[in-house]
Order: sequence, then structure tokens, then C-alpha cells
Amino acid sequence: MLIDLLQDPAGLTAGLAMLGASAAGGAWASNRWQRRRARPARSAAPSDVDRITGSMSRARFEALLVERLAAAERRGGGIGLIYAGLDGFRLVNDNHGHVFGDEVLRSTAERLRALCGPAMPLCRVAGDEFAILVDAPGGADEALARRLVEAFADALKVGSQSVSVGLSAGIARAPEHSGGARLLGKAAAAMRSVKRGGGGAHALFDPQIEAQQREEFTIARELRQAIDKHELELVYQPKIDAQSLQVTAVEALLRWRHPTLGAVSPARFIPVAEKHGLIKAIGNWVLDRALVQAAEWRRAGLRMRVAINVSGYQMRQDEFAARLGRGLRAHGLTPGRFTCEITESVAMEDTAVTRNAFARLGEIGVHVSIDDFGTGHSNLSALRRLPAEELKIDRAFVADMLHSEEARTIVLTILQMARALKLRVVAEGVETVAQRDLLVMLGCDELQGYLFARPMSARAIGIWACDASSTLTQSFRPSLFKETVACHDPPALRQVIPGRG
Ligand code: C2E
Ligand code: CA
Ligand code: CA
Repeated sequence: MLIDLLQDPAGLTAGLAMLGASAAGGAWASNRWQRRRARPARSAAPSDVDRITGSMSRARFEALLVERLAAAERRGGGIGLIYAGLDGFRLVNDNHGHVFGDEVLRSTAERLRALCGPAMPLCRVAGDEFAILVDAPGGADEALARRLVEAFADALKVGSQSVSVGLSAGIARAPEHSGGARLLGKAAAAMRSVKRGGGGAHALFDPQIEAQQREEFTIARELRQAIDKHELELVYQPKIDAQSLQVTAVEALLRWRHPTLGAVSPARFIPVAEKHGLIKAIGNWVLDRALVQAAEWRRAGLRMRVAINVSGYQMRQDEFAARLGRGLRAHGLTPGRFTCEITESVAMEDTAVTRNAFARLGEIGVHVSIDDFGTGHSNLSALRRLPAEELKIDRAFVADMLHSEEARTIVLTILQMARALKLRVVAEGVETVAQRDLLVMLGCDELQGYLFARPMSARAIGIWACDASSTLTQSFRPSLFKETVACHDPPALRQVIPGRG
């Protein structure tokens, strides 16, 4: 997005690069693709052939792999296995439906087949993932993987439409990496490491990948029990008004303290939770906990906004907005005082599913903030349509702002754009007085960062909020909080600071 913004700061247009313009037009809803049934397999025994693409079935491919591995071993040679997956295929399915998605898979198989040649075994392993057996020595597998990835830089032709999907490829070799069926898993692991790095490239299997995978499985296994074992906690980091330096809001940040793994960062375990189907339970726990806390603070007279981070997976689930709406009503909370922080990349997915989720949040009337702004591909008209009130400048730009002209220009551009769209801007990761002063000078509305406060437990926020000099009246410090109700009611304060009062 940033490059787009910088190249076109006046129009501030930016491309949602994933989909080709014609496909993005959404003409698919009722056209022939929706009515079309998947084509039958071309020939051969049904179990040997993938129904959608006509390439080899997984069962047939695995049997062939065993044969070729044995043959290679007999002749003292080796084989290579390429595991390739589309980047952004989920968006195609979400946007255009599964019938069109099947057509994309067919076109993908055709392109792969054309590049590999008819003799090389090609298999659709699952979903948008394909495997190719390269029975040729000396780096032929890597040269082919490179050609495949490069070829997918060009949009796919699907009927009269064009769709831009990238390709990520992983390579594993026998006997170097392993023999037998594990080779497929290793090539897949190499591909996933490419995807984690942003996709559109190829990589050879590296034993370190396996170590990372093991760690991931440990995290997933332990995380499954973390809620029941009361290992999760929310901490809260204040957002500060740039002019008055008073607290306007707090952002809830998740902490996981495991007895042997120690404190695991959410940046590490949230992606694992998303991948292993745990994010729904964790996201619900965060939402429920934050609502309870917001209600406690409100009863005690501390009326700041409470923000939670909402993952893309939650946004794609219908129940999330419903649960949020119910929770706000049950606790008697004003929706506008509850913020959902949603990353720019999720906000800009602009699929039917996320559009619907944003519409539901808009109906409920919660405050919506676009997080990590500047790191994704923003589209100005999509941004205008979102029911968002706030942009959070990613902390990478704040960190670089003082010594990088480019980062400064980006911050300024975001501020200008936000002004045009009447959005408030929060800068995150403010660590120094110099950063604060520059952000205030540039017109940033709110600031968040270690300079003001680190994330704190709810109890610590309560202590911080109270006027230490007047313990007798036990009131909140109005000078510290933008909106407080003077609280001379010890029972209420006891709720904010357990163990006090
Ligand atoms: P985020 O939403 O961008 O949160 C800001 C991160 O920056 C937090 O890291 C915060 O502790 C850190 N931070 C705040 N001020 C400063 C500063 O001045 N300097 C530096 N270096 N860092 C600062 P944290 O808590 O480790 O969270 C990391 C990410 O994990 C969050 O990024 C968010 O994407 C995700 N996350 C945290 N809690 C949740 C949650 O409940 N649900 C979901 N879905 N994601 C969460
Ligand atoms: Ca956030
Ligand atoms: Ca952020």
C-alpha cells in the first residue's frame, strides 16, 4: 500500500493486487460459472485421477512415489519432489464461490502440466496444493520450481476472466532429506515456510523447518488446555490523547504464561491458534473477559474505551458479531465505547464474508479501528466504505520515522488520508520524546507506547488510575483520564482495585 500511496498521494489509490481487475468486478455471482458443474474426470480409473483437475490422485501418486524411490535406490540415484500451493486461493473461493474456485484449480493444473511436460507425474494433493515428482538429477527440481513460481507471476486465464494468484513451492529430495512417504510432508513443510515469508518463491527443505514444526505442535497442544488451566490473561495498554496526554482508551493484549514454556508471545501463539482451529475459543475468551472488565471499570466510574484485537478468522465467523452484540447488551455497555482492532490486511480482503462482518459491526455500532496501518494493500474506496473511525499507524513507521525520510512521508500521508476520511489516527509503539513531539506536530490524534505506559494488568490500571494523593476520597485522577466520573464510592473502587478499599 505504501508504495501505491507514495506514487499517488493525491488520489491515494492503491491496488488490491490479489485479484485481476476483471475478476474483482464481481460479475461471477450469477453467471455461467455458478451454474456450471465440475467437469467429469477425463479418463483412467476414477480413484487414480483427481475429479476436478484430471491430474493424478494422491493415492496413485503416493504409490508411484514408493516405486520411483525404490528404483532410484537400486540405481544409486535420487529424486526430487516439488510441493506447490497457490497464494491467495482462499480469497478467490470467498469472493467468487467454489465453482469458480474449481475452474481456477483446473487452469492451475493445466499451467503446471504445460511447464512440467506430460511425462512428469503431477498430483493434486489437497485443496490448492499440487505435487510434482522430478526424476532427474542435479538441481532439475529447483530449476523447475523456479520456473513454476515465475510463471504464476502472470494472471491465470479462467474462461474470459483473468485471476492473479501466486505460487509457493517447497522441494524435498531423497535420499538427502528422507525416503518414503515422509518426503511429501517435508516438501509441504518447505512450501509452508515460503508462505510464512509472504509466498511467491521456492525453498529447499531445511531440517530447521522440522524443528519449528515440532515447536508449533507443542504450542498447539498446550494452548488447547490454556483456557481451562487459567494460563491466559489480558493486560491493558493505554492510548493517550496527543493534546491533553490523558488516557482515552485501553487496548487489551493477550498473555499466555505456561508453566514450562514460560511467557509465550501472542505474536507467536496467535498464528498457531489460527492454524490449529483454536482461535475461536481463544477469541471468545478474550471478548468475554474484556467485556467483563469494561463493565467493571464503567461501574467504578472509569469510562475509557476498551479495545480488543480481532483476528481475521473471527471476522470470518458469523457468530463473532452476534456474541459481541449479546455481550454488550448483557453488560449494559455502550457499543461506541468498545473498539474492535482489525488489521489492515484483513480489512482490505474485501470478500463477501468480511464485508458482511464489517456490516454487522457497523449495525452493532462498535468503534472500529484499522490496526497495523501501512503494512497492507489499502484501497481508498474500500476504506471509505468500512464503518471505521480509527487508523493505527504500524509501529515500524514510528520506529523509523526520525531517521527515515520515507517512513516520515508515509506517516504524513496516512495522516492526510485519515483527515480526508475523517478518521482518528493512533500512533503505536511511541518510545521516545522525540517521536512523541514529531507525531504531535504532524497532527496525530492519539499515542500509544512504552513512553507512556506498558501493557498492565487490570489491577495495575486501577492503581494507576487512582489519585494517589487523595486516598481518603479515593477518586480517579481526572487529569489522567479523558473521561472519568468522579468516584467517591469506595465499594466501586474496590472493584477496580481488588484488595483495596
Ligand atoms: P498489536 O495489536 O499491533 O499490538 C501492539 C504490540 O506492540 C503489543 O505486543 C504491544 O505490547 C507492543 N507495544 C506497545 N507499545 C510498544 C512500544 O512502545 N514499543 C514496542 N517495541 N512494542 C510496543 P504484544 O502484546 O506482544 O502483541 C503482539 C500482537 O499479537 C498484537 O499486535 C496483536 O496482533 C496480537 N494480539 C495480542 N493480543 C491479541 C488478542 O487478544 N487477539 C488477537 N487476535 N491478537 C492479539
Ligand atoms: Ca492492536
Ligand atoms: Ca498494531
